[in-house]
Amino acid sequence: MNNPLLEAFNTPHTTAPFSQIKNKHFKPAFKIAIAKATAEIDVITENNEEATFKNTIEKLDFSGYTLDRLSSVFFNLNSAETNNEIQKIAQEISPWLSEFSNDVSLNEKLFKRVKSVYDQRNNLELTIEQSMLLDKKYKGFSRNGANLNDNDKTSLREIDKNLSKLSLKFGENVLAETNAFELQITDKNQLKGLPDGAIEAAKAVAKSRNQKGWMFTLDYPSYIPFMTYADDRSLREQLAKAFGARAFQNNKNDNQQIVLDIVKLRHQRANLLGYTTHAHFVLEERMAETPEKVVSFSNELLAKAKPAAKREFEQLSTFAKKDGIEKLQKWDGAYYSEKLKKELFNLDQEALKPYFKLENVIEGAFTIAQKLFGLQFKEVTTIDKYHQEVKTYEVTNTNGDFIAVFYADFFPRKGKRNGAWMTSYKSQWKTNGENSRPHISIVCNFTKPTETKPSLLTFNEVTTLFHEFGHALHGMLANTTYSSLSGTSVSWDFVELPSQLLENWCYEKEALDLFAKHYKTNEPIPMEMVQKIKEAASFLEGMQTLRQLSFGLLDMSWHGGSPEDIKSVKDFENEAFKGTNLYPDVKENCMSTAFSHIFQGGYSSGYYSYKWAEVLDADAFEYFKENGIFNKETADKFAENVLSKGGTEKPMVLYKRFRGKKPNSTALLKRAGLL
Ligand SMILES: [Zn+2]
Repeated sequence: MNNPLLEAFNTPHTTAPFSQIKNKHFKPAFKIAIAKATAEIDVITENNEEATFKNTIEKLDFSGYTLDRLSSVFFNLNSAETNNEIQKIAQEISPWLSEFSNDVSLNEKLFKRVKSVYDQRNNLELTIEQSMLLDKKYKGFSRNGANLNDNDKTSLREIDKNLSKLSLKFGENVLAETNAFELQITDKNQLKGLPDGAIEAAKAVAKSRNQKGWMFTLDYPSYIPFMTYADDRSLREQLAKAFGARAFQNNKNDNQQIVLDIVKLRHQRANLLGYTTHAHFVLEERMAETPEKVVSFSNELLAKAKPAAKREFEQLSTFAKKDGIEKLQKWDGAYYSEKLKKELFNLDQEALKPYFKLENVIEGAFTIAQKLFGLQFKEVTTIDKYHQEVKTYEVTNTNGDFIAVFYADFFPRKGKRNGAWMTSYKSQWKTNGENSRPHISIVCNFTKPTETKPSLLTFNEVTTLFHEFGHALHGMLANTTYSSLSGTSVSWDFVELPSQLLENWCYEKEALDLFAKHYKTNEPIPMEMVQKIKEAASFLEGMQTLRQLSFGLLDMSWHGGSPEDIKSVKDFENEAFKGTNLYPDVKENCMSTAFSHIFQGGYSSGYYSYKWAEVLDADAFEYFKENGIFNKETADKFAENVLSKGGTEKPMVLYKRFRGKKPNSTALLKRAGLL
């Protein structure tokens, strides 16, 4: 069978052949690609010559190319343009892929060769990038237990098996508890304060469950508007308490024992691999490097943000007193914040939208990329696409050299998952003196145009577009030898720097003047609106900071010490929250038993990254502001030392080379109005 998925696409003229792909092509292509990748690994392990950087480490990085390309096409389609058939294929091929990746990571012959190169690393004349690649390949095995004796290896597999079962169960319990609660309202008076959209949605939920009136649930799209707008305080309390009690009710869905089991197993696993704690194990591969650094970073920020947070809490309490609220509770926070925000700024999102026509915003992002990095975006309609709505561009630099293919897919559709993300169809690398350029894509779910109106974005959508475009620039400007170190292949607490940095331009008059023009009158956005956007963006930032830090510190408490003596999840959590509390504790509620980020998803010992990245982006933007936000020299330094370097050097080294010094939190505190 002639299978388009097995054809290479390396140049601007051959891109992913979407129009020729049929669903029937996927499974045979995966079979062939996995066999090919396995054969490529065999060539490395069967080599009779002594292991060298070139014949082992480099060869390993260039192996599996067909499989990588195929996987990115398939999984991107499964996110952006899926259907039942694709989802079924995904379920079938996922075990094939995990089996293949296990075969590689447990391949002892392969590890022996990698280790033999690693052991000689000090005598090899490697470039910085090559040393990084060697380190990464070696750790890929060692962090997975390759150095352990057979007994310990068996223990490790046992722990891993239990951990994956437990986190699955943790997630199932949270889901079951989320679904188990519903708040039915039949008295219209109790809906007071809620926006029409939320009321309509609640009606639809009630209808779908064959119930009368309106139904609210603990799902975010239902829960958040209710907590933000519903005037009925006792109902807000009821909903908030139900939310906070998830998996903490001593019933069959309780997660307390699971939390304790998970942290104990993670600790054992870390010890087995030679690390003091799970946090030490995780952070070894992050910019922050150690739990001690994360904790001191958090405490330093906490000390600075706390006075502001207390002031804001007082302000909010005083504001709520007018309504007769004697003591502000957790279920009052979002509600009175929203009311106070409205009173202080009266920022009408609808009045902003006419200044943000999608086409203008995209042109704006392109102009900014051109001013900063000399990039030209040319729409090329002949590039093959998976849906007619996808826009396709060829990107070149000032010399006219081809830099990247850029796809942009903006509107919601059936078959596209929620949210916004950046992805790639082909990464970047260099081989035989040729620089093979990347194919980058951003996928969003923005307001669609109607018959009478173009797509007018909310301000939140504008910053989302810039955010994803920042990730895309990281991918497009990549300039490394090895694809596994290219572009956004950097540590978690560094990857959001380019994306969050770019959002800063959305708040600058000089940048907004380039594109924020009324779609009918072409009038630029009024300065006082820009000022209001800026002020509203840092509203109650002290309280927000405290909240984020408290979650990060809770995460660190669970994973940065020995869990042997922990008896009560709730007591342990209260201890960790000491020093960040503003609201009175709710004794029947617990955060940890539903903290899916760290107990179900992959964010354990990583929650601090949100704040960490904010410190970085504020500090970096401060540097841009010193010499003008379009200063070419600053932009060149950013492109040269951060965007083009990917993961070829340690993030702190790259950052310091760009900035001239280490990042510090002053710029963030200033931006947030906390100084
Ligand atoms: Zn991001």
